[in-house]
Amino acid sequence: MRIDLHTHSTRSDGTDAPAALVEAAAAAGLDVVALTDHDVMSGWDDAITAAGSVGITVVPGVEISCERDGRSVHLLGYLVDPADSALLAELDLARSSRATRLTRMVDLLAADGIPITQDHVAAQVPPGATPGRPHVADALVAAGVVPTRDEAFRRWLADDSPYYVRYYAPDPAAAVALVRGAGGVPVLAHPLAARRGVAPTLALVEELAPLGLAGVEADHPDHDAAARRAVRAVARHTGVFVTGSSDYHGTGKPVRIGAECTDPDALAAIEALGTGSAVARP
Ligand code: AMP
Ligand code: ZN
Ligand code: FE
Ligand code: FE
Repeated sequence: MRIDLHTHSTRSDGTDAPAALVEAAAAAGLDVVALTDHDVMSGWDDAITAAGSVGITVVPGVEISCERDGRSVHLLGYLVDPADSALLAELDLARSSRATRLTRMVDLLAADGIPITQDHVAAQVPPGATPGRPHVADALVAAGVVPTRDEAFRRWLADDSPYYVRYYAPDPAAAVALVRGAGGVPVLAHPLAARRGVAPTLALVEELAPLGLAGVEADHPDHDAAARRAVRAVARHTGVFVTGSSDYHGTGKPVRIGAECTDPDALAAIEALGTGSAVARP
């Protein structure tokens, strides 16, 4: 059974609409795909409807942008109640803060002579999508300034770039409580994807496991073999399960859907714990 539990659609910064993403998952031979857009759950219905016609299983999820010590931390929440008011309020706050922040970043870039306008960026954000740096990158690609998202990130959009602007994001401990409160299953995303060599966020697994963290991503395109081993070691001694996923973004990143997969036992654990919504089987 092939299971990919981390993907992004046009409801955030992926390039496939939710239905197209599910079709791509089926075409790639996946049996199960989770839709985990950044800070939004609006793609679930389209994904589940499409899954019914192509005969694959959808796990509804969300990737919550968190911040700890000035660093971005991502928490996946599976099977949350999509009507949970505390969760919705937090995600609404995050999305509106992201919109303000993107406007500021574009102002800073334009003031420095980088040829970009608010309209160019707005044209790259699908209606209702969670706005993010990849949309700024897309505007620069569309204008012919850079060839790829990746090049835009390297030149102007990285975390340590002078054009980087922060946005409101909860602490990961608060986000774990929020996901649990919404009947969901919190899984720490790509803890070693950012600064390789150091392992600052593995300490988060130790901190968050007693607070209800259920799993951690081990197999991720941004984790090398040593990182994967380190994640598995901390998962073993904290008693959380590990997942593996592509973090597919359509053409936004050079990774295929299903490039990394999750063991069926981890999916079973997610299903046993999650009470806020259900895995959708065809
Ligand atoms: P934001 O949440 O708006 O700060 O943007 C973070 C998003 O940018 C995440 O979804 C990352 O996957 C994406 N991202 C980070 N670096 C790159 C890159 N080099 N190329 C494409 N997307 C990236
Ligand atoms: Zn993304
Ligand atoms: Fe992420
Ligand atoms: Fe992601």
